[in-house]
Amino acid sequence: MKLIEGRRGIAAQVVALTFDDGPAVWTEPIAEALERHGGRGTFFAIGEAVATDEGRRIVRRLLDGGHEVGNHTWTHADLQQTDDAAIADEMRRTSAVLAEVTGRPVDCWRAPFFRSDGRVRAAVGDLAGREVWFSAMPGDWDIPAEETARRVLADLEPGDIVVLHDGRPANEPPELSWPTREATVGAVGLILEEMGRRGLRSVTVSGLLASS
Ligand SMILES: [Zn+2]
Repeated sequence: MKLIEGRRGIAAQVVALTFDDGPAVWTEPIAEALERHGGRGTFFAIGEAVATDEGRRIVRRLLDGGHEVGNHTWTHADLQQTDDAAIADEMRRTSAVLAEVTGRPVDCWRAPFFRSDGRVRAAVGDLAGREVWFSAMPGDWDIPAEETARRVLADLEPGDIVVLHDGRPANEPPELSWPTREATVGAVGLILEEMGRRGLRSVTVSGLLASS
């Protein structure tokens, strides 16, 4: 399966804002902000967070809003430190719960920490569709909203795939990131406002692939 990367150089005035580590309390404010600006996003969800009543509700709400949801493993595992059988288990369980909630097969995934390589990809196989990479990762997990927005907007071009975070993995050590993603919610508002001024719109990864 081919890796999906940014598509700089396309004529369409679109970028793909993507969000990892949800569903969580920050997911819906982000989805609402995208919708207010006529945009859509792609959300790479952690399986164990989807598999709760609230997680299922949020994922259904994303689908109803026209957003896309991908597989981000069951536990937010470092797949380069995970054996083949456990990788397959992480991916299969997450694809299963997402398919159950959304009523459709999962067609994209992203490795936690982008810790992916040939062995990981072979172990994932066709359990979650295509792997989505990125062209911009501002590090929104421990910087203020204004700084995330500045980093994204300084170098934003049509075709970019931007990585942001709508959740915090349950197993993340406290020193690795801020306890909430409120700063990201703020950053998304700032980014979308400036994108609007520049005539740029956020689309799903599928939408980006369909653009030219
Ligand atoms: Zn992640």
